[in-house]
Amino acid sequence: MSQSKDLITIATFLNPWDAHILRGLLESEDIPACLASEHQIWLNWQWSTALGGVDLRVPYAAQERAKEVLAQYMQGDYASALQEATEAEFGAADQPDTCPHCGSSDISYSNTNPGMLSAIGIYFFLGVIVPQPRKITCMACGHICKEKSLEDTGKN
Ligand SMILES: [Zn+2]
Repeated sequence: MSQSKDLITIATFLNPWDAHILRGLLESEDIPACLASEHQIWLNWQWSTALGGVDLRVPYAAQERAKEVLAQYMQGDYASALQEATEAEFGAADQPDTCPHCGSSDISYSNTNPGMLSAIGIYFFLGVIVPQPRKITCMACGHICKEKSLEDTGKN
C-alpha cells in the first residue's frame, strides 16, 4: 500500500463550519483536502462530541505543509493578512465616535426620553421596532449631540 495516496486526519472539529473554513484555506494553498464524517454531524450536530466530530484529511505526502498552514492560521497570520487586505481595499475600520466639539473619545451614550416614547408609540401602533438615536454626551467638555449623525443640538 502506497502511503502517498492515503489520507491522514490532521485536525478534528466539533462543527462542520470550522472544518470547511480550514479545508478552504488548505485548498487555497494548493493542498488537496477533504472532510470525513461531515454529514452525520450536520444531521446530529448536538452529538458532535459523541460522534467524534468532523475530520479534516489531507494526502499523507502533504501533511507537513498542511500542519504548517494550520499552525500559521492558529497564530493569526491569515487574520492579520485579511485585515491588511481589507483595509487596503475599503479603508480602516470605523473609528469610535468622538466629540465634534473637542475631539475627545470620552463620551457617554444615553436614550432620550422623546426617543423612547416615540419608539414605544411606533411599536404600539405599527408593531415594529424602529431604532431611535441615542444622546451622546461628551464627558470632557459637556457637549451634547445625537448618535450617528453627530449633529450639533446647540446645547453645550
Ligand atoms: Zn467634547
